[in-house]
Amino acid sequence: MSKGLPKRSEDYSLWYNELVKRADLAENSAVRGCMVIKPYGFAIWEKMQAVLDKMFKDTGHSNAYFPLLIPKSYLSKEADHVEGFAKECAVVTHYRLKNNDAGDGVVVDPAAKLEEELIIRPTSETVIWSTYKNWIQSYRDLPVLVNQWANVMRWEMRTRLFLRTAEFLWQEGHTAHATKMEAIEEAEQMHEVYARFAEDFMAMPVVKGTKSESERFAGALETYTIEALMQDGKALQAGTSHFLGQNFAKAFDVKFQSKEGKLEHVWGTSWGVSTRLMGALIMAHSDDEGLVLPPKLAPIQVVIVPIYRKEEELEAISDKVKEIKAALLKRGISVKFDNRDTFKPGFKFAEWELKGVPVRLAMGPRDLANGTVEVARRDTKEKNTYALEGIDATVEQLLEEIQNNIFTKALTYRDEHITEVSSYEEFKKVLEDKGGFVAAYFDGTKATEDKIQDETKASTRCFPVDWKDSEEGPCMITGKPGKKYLFAKAY
Ligand code: AMP
Repeated sequence: MSKGLPKRSEDYSLWYNELVKRADLAENSAVRGCMVIKPYGFAIWEKMQAVLDKMFKDTGHSNAYFPLLIPKSYLSKEADHVEGFAKECAVVTHYRLKNNDAGDGVVVDPAAKLEEELIIRPTSETVIWSTYKNWIQSYRDLPVLVNQWANVMRWEMRTRLFLRTAEFLWQEGHTAHATKMEAIEEAEQMHEVYARFAEDFMAMPVVKGTKSESERFAGALETYTIEALMQDGKALQAGTSHFLGQNFAKAFDVKFQSKEGKLEHVWGTSWGVSTRLMGALIMAHSDDEGLVLPPKLAPIQVVIVPIYRKEEELEAISDKVKEIKAALLKRGISVKFDNRDTFKPGFKFAEWELKGVPVRLAMGPRDLANGTVEVARRDTKEKNTYALEGIDATVEQLLEEIQNNIFTKALTYRDEHITEVSSYEEFKKVLEDKGGFVAAYFDGTKATEDKIQDETKASTRCFPVDWKDSEEGPCMITGKPGKKYLFAKAY
């Protein structure tokens, strides 16, 4: 921590990359687009997983695991799906290496060529629906409500730690239903679960909406998305839930006998969030000093730093800290006592600030004598002295306040960055000068969307669910009847 982070206002992108590395969240590996998630970063991901996993189980889902490798032929069974994913598939062609002729390295053994090439899953619809064919025969076998925690691989060209990587960790839910209505309700339910997770746990406001035709998941009839706004005015797709219709059931011949005795294709959904959420969390709240983590997802919620000169002072402080720690732990608050004698308090303060620990307690001999402690909050950097008596309750309340405060701050920023425009000129100007979400009428066609994207680099983010279908008007480009969409430059 020799020198500070780059400033967000000067180079947002550099600030982000440096922050991810210096806060010990992740680093690049030898393979482009594949990252190493370090223990501190993984601890945040594990907290996210724990909360989401409970939400999935509370809505009736169970976890299962499907293979990493998929026969190449599976991918081509659903036409749109293969079209969407073919461009970014990693393919396994051989199963053995051998020494090269020069004897100083290894080469692929041509004799070990696979009869059928395999792809590393970019998503698991195909392997899962090929399995569901065996699981589902009758209406009594439905619904199937399965989630998998896994890694996937999409050969992305422009990668960035967490936000867009070639290999990423995620969860993918895959459900099968007897009726169209039930499948739509499932996709909408998981859309809501994602929005609740983003807002209540990540403290990150999101717009819930549906994707335009060209942004829809390859193979879906409808894609529901949650869209968040980052501090540089760019949007980020934070989670998606897809209504698949009967597309995959038809591709993999998954039929069931209905109550009425008819043979029908099953209806499906899939939904996923990935380690991209880590990038969203970092970008949504952090500042020029480092991470700002919402207390509900912070691996360490409180750090206690002793201020002392003599060994006896540290001993006396340590005794008191033991009591405080126990009281905090009893309330389910995670605490770290940073008693390393190899670093000065100032250095420790900066380090925990960089790592986004929401609350810091500092305690010296004078505090001990007075029965007080200095409490600093990471979000506002305010410092106050509180009585040691009842400090556990004080801290608990403060954590709640911080969680609410960072949500409100992000919400205010987001709401200030939704601009409605009535012409393409205005649209371009807002994107240029202010950024954020821009609301405009658009005819919904791919041609218009491509033109806008080529000329402005902005894409449709979604058609927000709370905007009624009745909000119709002339498209800002073609003048044809359109719906009001949210556009933004996006990650
Ligand atoms: P999809 O299957 O394309 O709907 O994506 C599912 C989830 O994974 C969404 O929340 C995406 O934002 C996220 N995602 C898609 N591609 C990547 C990537 N290359 N790196 C990280 N997350 C991704």
